[in-house]
Amino acid sequence: MEQISQLYDDTINDHLFTSDTAPKGMKQHESNIVMQQLASSIDLHKLASLYYNQLKSKLNIDAVTIKFPTGLITIGEAPENATSKSLDQSINRKIFATLVYSFSKVLSMREHAILIELHRLFKFPLNNALEYHSIKQLALKDHLTSLGNRANYQETLLRLISQAHRYGEGFGLLVIDMDKFKHINDTFGHHEGDKVLIAVAEVLRHSLRDTDYAFRFGGDEFCCLLPGSQIATNSKIAQRIQLLMKSDPVLSRHAVSCSIGSTVYLANDSEQDIFNRADSALYQAKQNGRACYKAA
Ligand code: GH3
Ligand code: MG
Repeated sequence: MEQISQLYDDTINDHLFTSDTAPKGMKQHESNIVMQQLASSIDLHKLASLYYNQLKSKLNIDAVTIKFPTGLITIGEAPENATSKSLDQSINRKIFATLVYSFSKVLSMREHAILIELHRLFKFPLNNALEYHSIKQLALKDHLTSLGNRANYQETLLRLISQAHRYGEGFGLLVIDMDKFKHINDTFGHHEGDKVLIAVAEVLRHSLRDTDYAFRFGGDEFCCLLPGSQIATNSKIAQRIQLLMKSDPVLSRHAVSCSIGSTVYLANDSEQDIFNRADSALYQAKQNGRACYKAA
C-alpha cells in the first residue's frame, strides 16, 4: 500500500489531472478480470500485449514502454505531442522496471486512479515474466562468447521465416567457420583457442547492424541472420568481417582467417533448406583455399 500512495502522491499536482470526478479506481470484479487476464501468460512479450489491451480497453492510451535492466518493450505508438507518465515497479523497495505510459489526452482523476490500479495489478505478473525472460535468455546464450547459441539461432530463424511469409520481408544467412582452428588449439593450447573464439565474437558484433543477429553455432562455427539483407549486403558484411579479423590484435597475432558461405531466404525454404545452401557455399569456400567468401 505504501508504494501505491507514494505513486499517487507523486502525481497529485501533476498536469495529467482534471478535476471532473473524485478518483475512484476499478470495481473489484473488474480488477479480478484484469488479474485473470494477466495471469494467462508468463511470456514477456505476450504479457506486455495483454497489459496494453487492458489499458486500452479502460483508458485513452497511445503507447506503453516497459523498461527493465536488460532491455525495453514498447507497445503502441505515441504521437509527437503525447503526454507521458513514468511509474516504477518495485518489490521490497527495489525497482525492477519502469513503465512509461503515453497519452494524447489529459487524464481525468478517475482515469488516473484506474491507471494506478492497473499499474499495481501488473506488478507481480510483470516480475514473474521478467524472471522467466532472464532465465530464458541465459539458456539461449553461448557461455564462452555471450553470443546467441544454436537454440537461439533456431528460434530466431523460425521467427524470420514466419515474418517472411507474413510480411514478405526476406533475410540473409552467413555461415562462418574458422580456418585451421585446430592448429591454434594444438600449438597454443585450448585457453588461447578460447580467446580467439571470444575475439571472433567481438568482430561479429562490430560488423553487424543493430537489427542483425550473430550466433555461435558450435565449436569454431558461427552464423549471422541478417533481416532484409540481399546477396549484395551479405557480401558487404562478409567482407567487413574478414577485414576486421585482420585488424583485431588477438586474431592478427595468430593470422586467423575464416571461410564464409552465404545465401538468402527463398520462398518456401524450410529452415534446413536455407542452412544447407549456406553450408554448401561454405564448403565451396573451404575447397577454394579458405579465407574467402562464397554465395549460393
Ligand atoms: P577447417 O579450416 O577445415 O575448418 O579446419 P579446422 O582445424 O578449423 O577444423 P574444424 O573446423 O573441423 O575444427 C574445429 C575445432 O574447434 C575442433 C575443436 O578442437 C575446436 N573447438 C571446438 N569447440 C571449442 C572450444 O569451445 N574452445 C576451443 N578452444 N576449441 C574448440
Ligand atoms: Mg574450422
